Amino acid sequence: MSSVADSASRPTDTARAAGAGERWLDDWLTAHREDLIAWRRHIHRNPELSRQEFGTTAFVAEKLRAAGLDPQLLPAGTGLYCDIGPADADGKRMGLRADLDALPMNEESGLDFASTVPGVAHTCGHDVHTAVVLGAGLALAAAPRLETGVRLIFQPAEEVMPGGALDVIAAGVLSGVSRIFALHCDPHLQVGTVGVKAGPITSAADIIDVHLSGPGGHTSRPQLTTDLVGALGRLITDVPALLARRVDPRSRTVMVWGSVEAGRAANAIPKRGTARGTVRTGEYDTWAEIEPIMRELVHAAVAPTGVQVRIDYHRGMPPVDNEEYSATMLRRAAGVLGPDAAVDTLQSSGGEDFAWYLEKVPGAMGRLGVWPGSGPVCDIHQPDFYADERALEYGVRLLVHLAAPPLRSPNLADPRNPAPPRER
Ligand SMILES: [Zn+2]
Ligand SMILES: [Zn+2]
Repeated sequence: MSSVADSASRPTDTARAAGAGERWLDDWLTAHREDLIAWRRHIHRNPELSRQEFGTTAFVAEKLRAAGLDPQLLPAGTGLYCDIGPADADGKRMGLRADLDALPMNEESGLDFASTVPGVAHTCGHDVHTAVVLGAGLALAAAPRLETGVRLIFQPAEEVMPGGALDVIAAGVLSGVSRIFALHCDPHLQVGTVGVKAGPITSAADIIDVHLSGPGGHTSRPQLTTDLVGALGRLITDVPALLARRVDPRSRTVMVWGSVEAGRAANAIPKRGTARGTVRTGEYDTWAEIEPIMRELVHAAVAPTGVQVRIDYHRGMPPVDNEEYSATMLRRAAGVLGPDAAVDTLQSSGGEDFAWYLEKVPGAMGRLGVWPGSGPVCDIHQPDFYADERALEYGVRLLVHLAAPPLRSPNLADPRNPAPPRER
């Protein structure tokens, strides 16, 4: 899914250098900078579709076990979680979430570590997310002290609705989590910056499949049958227009058909046809009421034609609604990348199943800049999606400082967590 803002955000000229961190973190990154890139490229070369991420799961688990950690696989065998450091007084840790799956599309990046699997590619940056959370976890495991630990969550199936986050929640993994964070690659943001927003940052997204049927017949005698293609035409144009008059325009509701199929011959009325599309909205209240409205409008649009209608409506996920304090934590932690590293971002119309975690615990998703600063600005889900690999180190620094407040450098000091004296 897309969590990227609809409009390109303004990159800044600062925040390029890896910021001041604790010395142990600099030491860890010096030793493992090449590993981060190697992990990311291994996952990128070997992409796996949703709920088939067995190889990626095994790869991450092996790296964690090699560090003496004890990863736990999810019941279906793809996806895993791993605790690092001590729990708090309530038995909980901070959750850091990555997603493992790739998309069913061909890669056209020309990179020498491009996908080796035809028809499957990491064009949403989930390979970057996995390497960053793995790196942050292993770095935190090497920290000299960690007052409250983290739970790394590598979930399957983010790209399908309603999303693998529900598998993670059903497995009880959130019961050990007090607050949860995630980063998503944003190719509109310059590497070294992090897009932050309190409140909704993505939109609710549903899928509607409409199946039409009728007797079929000769195009010379439409009065003896039902004009199925004509009915599809009404459906395609009327439903989005009518929906726009039934919901609050401020709700950022957008209904777009992505697939229409019917008929083959110019002179034959087909018996069957389908239209498939997405329904997206930025408001939780609108999302709650939109399915019955869509069903009503589809039936109303087609009714005069006499064509039979069947609707498969797939509820997706609500908007990712960043909790305000968590967004503030993200903004402060981004300060470790530079004084201007945290940039404001907009709510997108993309969907992200990270939303399901935020239904249960507070947290926030940030946008990790991956645009190199020159050259074309691509988008996620494009065959030539590109991520500047410097973002790996920035992502690790950000998550480490987010998860370990006592280790923050002085400019990030939280009144509740006095900064320790600097070591250099
Ligand atoms: Zn995606
Ligand atoms: Zn994604």
